[in-house]
Amino acid sequence: MTYRIEVDQEICVSSGRCVAEYPERFRFDDEEVAEGVPGAPPLPDDATLRLARACPSGALLVFDAQSGDEIDIFGT
Ligand code: SF4
Repeated sequence: MTYRIEVDQEICVSSGRCVAEYPERFRFDDEEVAEGVPGAPPLPDDATLRLARACPSGALLVFDAQSGDEIDIFGT
């Protein structure tokens, strides 16, 4: 399965974890809220799950890239 990860900017608390770990993939916008870097290559699935689980506010949402279904990151 290939995963896609997105930031829910309404939930992000700007901890900076995703930006610090993958600066090629995430950045802060003008309001210091994380967002994806346009055109960035996808992360490996294991890194996607690990990072999403580590987000302190649960703002990193993971989807099946093919079906678009959201993945239960703690149930996989
Ligand atoms: S790890 Fe989560 S809370 Fe921290 S900046 Fe990234 S999306 Fe926001």
